[in-house]
Amino acid sequence: MSGSTTERGLGWRHQQDVESLRRRHVEGTACWWCERPMFKDPARNFDGKTLEGDHSEARSRGGRKADRLMHSTCNRQRGDGSKDELRPAVTGVWPPPAGAPAVAMVELTGPPEPRAHVLYWG
Ligand SMILES: [Zn+2]
Repeated sequence: MSGSTTERGLGWRHQQDVESLRRRHVEGTACWWCERPMFKDPARNFDGKTLEGDHSEARSRGGRKADRLMHSTCNRQRGDGSKDELRPAVTGVWPPPAGAPAVAMVELTGPPEPRAHVLYWG
């Protein structure tokens, strides 16, 4: 066992952290990124996906431990943490419902705003 898979921060240790977070998760807890409720059952989440572990201190900034859960879509939007101030919880620009094409977002959120195009809603 070389341990090489853990060096990127997303190996076994990350999985253990995420499993621990999932075990302690209180159903309906608001997502830090979008403020929508989070559920263990993927079907109940707005994006229909399993919750993922997120580093409140972005990995690109030295964060080593997943310390909270986040929607899969939100986790991907957050990326390296450089757009934290653009998260829906701050801007009020919300993700489209699960299954809706990303291009429908502009109609759902009203007049196009530059920030609406910064985030990836896939
Ligand atoms: Zn979210």
